[in-house]
Amino acid sequence: MAEDLINSFMTGPDENGRFGTFGGRFVSETLMPLILSLEEEYERAKTDPTFWAQMDDLWKNYVGRPSPLYHADRLSKHLGGAKIYLKRDELNHTGAHKINNVLGQIILAMRMGKTRIIAETGAGQHGVATATVCAKFGLKCVVYMGAHDVERQAPNVFRMRLLGAEVVPVTSGRGTLKDAMNDALRDWVTNVRDTFYCIGTVAGPHPYPAMVRDFQSIIGKEVRWQLEEQEGEGRLPDTLIAAIGGGSNAMGLFFPFLDDKDVRIIGVEAGGKGVNAKMEHCASLTGGRPGVLHGNRTYLLQDDDGQILEGFSISAGLDYPGIGPEHSWLHDTGRAEYVAITDAEALEAFQLCCLQEGIIPALEPSHALAHVMKIAPELPADHIIVMNMCGRGDKDIFTVAKHLGFDMNTGD
Ligand SMILES: *Cc1c(COP(=O)(O)O)cnc(C)c1O
Repeated sequence: MAEDLINSFMTGPDENGRFGTFGGRFVSETLMPLILSLEEEYERAKTDPTFWAQMDDLWKNYVGRPSPLYHADRLSKHLGGAKIYLKRDELNHTGAHKINNVLGQIILAMRMGKTRIIAETGAGQHGVATATVCAKFGLKCVVYMGAHDVERQAPNVFRMRLLGAEVVPVTSGRGTLKDAMNDALRDWVTNVRDTFYCIGTVAGPHPYPAMVRDFQSIIGKEVRWQLEEQEGEGRLPDTLIAAIGGGSNAMGLFFPFLDDKDVRIIGVEAGGKGVNAKMEHCASLTGGRPGVLHGNRTYLLQDDDGQILEGFSISAGLDYPGIGPEHSWLHDTGRAEYVAITDAEALEAFQLCCLQEGIIPALEPSHALAHVMKIAPELPADHIIVMNMCGRGDKDIFTVAKHLGFDMNTGD
């Protein structure tokens, strides 16, 4: 079966939302009609030029797309091998790739006549992007966030409040992202008539994984023409590299290249303190096994009894306990490779990027960069690596300061 599927990666998923044995829609009967009407509207929008015209206008004038494809020449020289390009999605409005997808879903919500948007958020980045676009369109916005995360991510809670969103701390379970997801789903069922559920990564029941991927694919589509024209390379990249939490920025970069068999594709998971028996990591593919969460079947961090485990990573944006089902499929079919990078390696890459390129990266793409550092020196000078710089590091300077022993209160 894998061989057949490998010939047509860009046609997935099937009509039930399955990527091989992954994905699908594992939801209660009450949710089914909502999901079907969303799928119907998305299918309509996909072939409607007015929908894409509106998206293009907002991507250009509100988000700041296209984001540059930048030849990191000092970094390339420093590593002494491959030619490294950074796709600068950290320059987007709100500082990361999340807004690419949020815009698409919220325009869809307005086409469906919905006036209230709900979302769940872990680190708060998706919550901030959602609150931003809701403010822009005057929509009511409610963000579910684990009580534990509310404490850890106070600056993002305040940003959401400034943007007019209501942040609901979730105390059920252990008060983390998984519990916030459950509460958001409960809210959706209760408020079907006026409410749209905006998911922040390539997860959830079908059609979310494919829909979020399609919206994020603007990243890879731009890379194709930018390498061809703007950079004068006139060819495809040799290797693509991106960091993975749930996997949306990575799918966005990878998807337009899946059928180009010569393009090597590498996803980088958060290895935390190491992919060990104590599960002090968030590497669902490297260190997890398949199960069902958030309405789809995919690789998950779980214990022997199937209890979902909370991941661990220096980067709050990577500690999703699962991974989008399409990545599980790309992993099992062998089309993409997945590796894990530790906190320590990501911190080293973070500092190198600051010093070599004058770019303070988020800790999430620092994981991808750490893998670039490992493989670039072994590759020839005409080998093109494109890495997705999916977020900027302003949000992470407090975490990094702590690890480097800098006191933010005394300035020393
Ligand atoms: C949220 C986030 C991620 C992880 O989400 P994906 O769906 O895997 O892209 C990675 N990087 C940044 C900067 C983020 O904000």
